[in-house]
Amino acid sequence: MTHSIFLPKTRLLKGVPIKNKILLDLKHEVEVLVASGKHRPAIGIVQIGNNPRSDVYVHKKKTFGHEIGAIVHHVQLPELSTYEEIQTEILEFANDPCVHGILIQMPLPKHISKSEMQSLMDLIPHAKDVDGLTTANIALLDHDYDRAILPATARAVNLLLDGYDIPVKGRKAVVIGRSNLVGRPTALSLGHRGADVTVCHRETEGIPECARHADILIVATGVPGLVTREFTNPEQTIIDVGISVLLGSDDDSKIVGDVDFGHVAPFVKNISPVPGGVGPLTVAGLFLNLIDCHKAQEV
Ligand code: NAD
Repeated sequence: MTHSIFLPKTRLLKGVPIKNKILLDLKHEVEVLVASGKHRPAIGIVQIGNNPRSDVYVHKKKTFGHEIGAIVHHVQLPELSTYEEIQTEILEFANDPCVHGILIQMPLPKHISKSEMQSLMDLIPHAKDVDGLTTANIALLDHDYDRAILPATARAVNLLLDGYDIPVKGRKAVVIGRSNLVGRPTALSLGHRGADVTVCHRETEGIPECARHADILIVATGVPGLVTREFTNPEQTIIDVGISVLLGSDDDSKIVGDVDFGHVAPFVKNISPVPGGVGPLTVAGLFLNLIDCHKAQEV
């Protein structure tokens, strides 16, 4: 079977054109904010160590931030930094009225435990929580959605759906994955928009059968090739959030999502590729959050 043959009806949901449009809109918005006498929007990024993948993500954030005219402060601490040293940097941004958003680049080094990581995260004031990962924000997503900040990847999923005019209200959505970073906020956002949402996870039985009835299938597990044709129906929209790096035999690596793309794409209505689907929009989602935080702080 040839993997690259698409039925004419399959539409690829590419993130880059939407990202480019958001970039221009935000650039204009920053110009207007600054012209009206407000501080230039500024984000503080705290990175610990030099994980090569984190370096790539931080570089993308810095580039996008500079392109829209925002200020990007990047503090990179040594790998073996203590909890107290990281805390000092976060509090400095938290107390600076000219910094409107703070993010801690994940993952943190292994000597920082999960609970320490969440405590560090929770030092970020709600008003500056551009990543939406503080305990307070996660609770708001559940109980007071309109006051919450939607984490950037969940925002990216919604931007992709909206960018291609894919209706959400009243549709059956299945989200596979329930992390605080991606699956859970994505499910809550779709539910808030009136979708009928089912969340599946590692322990769920019968996922293919459940997924097959979805109008919109969102996959965020980090398991390459999890979604096969038996998860699909011909009218379905699939958003693949997964990112995994597969090492080839000759040391070259390949980035793949959670969908067995070659076998699935020809048989659905819309599908986002990996790379080039949700990924480019995640940075856009982060800076949309920054501008929202800026507006709320500089009234
Ligand atoms: P995570 O490990 O925190 O959560 C994974 C979730 O998937 C869990 O809820 C788990 O129960 C579920 N899961 C795992 N295996 C499963 C299986 N076999 N069947 C059903 N459910 C299963 O991961 P995460 O932080 O939520 O990230 C998920 C994926 O999204 C990763 O590949 C990550 O790299 C990617 N990601 C992409 C972006 C982006 O911008 N595109 C941003 C963040 C994360």
